Amino acid sequence: VEGTETHKRVCALCTKEEVANCTYGEEGWAHDDASDPSSHSKTCTACGNVAAEACSFTENVVAPTHTEGGYTEHTCETCGYSYQDNEQDALGHTWGEWTHVEGTENADAQHKHVCTADDGGEETLNCSFSERVVAPTCTVRGYTEHTCADCGYFYRDQYQEAPGHHYEDGVCVDCGAREDAVLGDVNSDGRVSIADAVMLLRHFAGYEVNIDLAVADINCDGSKDLGDVTYLMQMLNGWYPAS
Ligand SMILES: [Zn+2]
Ligand SMILES: [Zn+2]
Ligand SMILES: [Zn+2]
Ligand SMILES: [Zn+2]
Ligand SMILES: [Zn+2]
Ligand SMILES: [Zn+2]
Repeated sequence: VEGTETHKRVCALCTKEEVANCTYGEEGWAHDDASDPSSHSKTCTACGNVAAEACSFTENVVAPTHTEGGYTEHTCETCGYSYQDNEQDALGHTWGEWTHVEGTENADAQHKHVCTADDGGEETLNCSFSERVVAPTCTVRGYTEHTCADCGYFYRDQYQEAPGHHYEDGVCVDCGAREDAVLGDVNSDGRVSIADAVMLLRHFAGYEVNIDLAVADINCDGSKDLGDVTYLMQMLNGWYPAS
């Protein structure tokens, strides 16, 4: 340890001894390369005596982040030597839900997700679509619907025109609609009235009612539901021309 090493010299004439502490240069302790266990040493500038001691390490644990690996850094404060061990992989991002990327459309649509830790992590991929072919009915056109299950974005193409009814003896052979049927006249009394709306409401409420569902898609959206009742009421109130 510093200060305890000594050197001496002997007078050539009187053989008197002089003892002094070793003196070390400005460099101080230097790490001993390839030492195991790790050590550092210093050399007396006067006598060449080498003082050595084991390195004494302090630990600094660096935790891994989403993008950077973690490790433990051991540093000898005396000689400055340091090494790392206990290395851990980066944690990776914790992704949120996929969302559609605005401005990307149809087959070129993309979705992205961002890291829930709000650390700038972001990943953008092409949507992956599954196809559903919806056939046309007599009065509503068909199409192919492409839906991305990840982000919910969908688009439609390959539209097929509605062929119209094919009446034989006053009845459509494809859907059973009557040629003289009036759209919305579900009780088949020859006119569209509040009575049709009541019948339709009772039908959707689950009651057994004898109605002609072939004329129930009043708003022509391809499905028969409460939207048709609403449309019928608005039609009766004069919002739209009766067809
Ligand atoms: Zn002497
Ligand atoms: Zn010395
Ligand atoms: Zn050291
Ligand atoms: Zn992240
Ligand atoms: Zn998508
Ligand atoms: Zn038809």
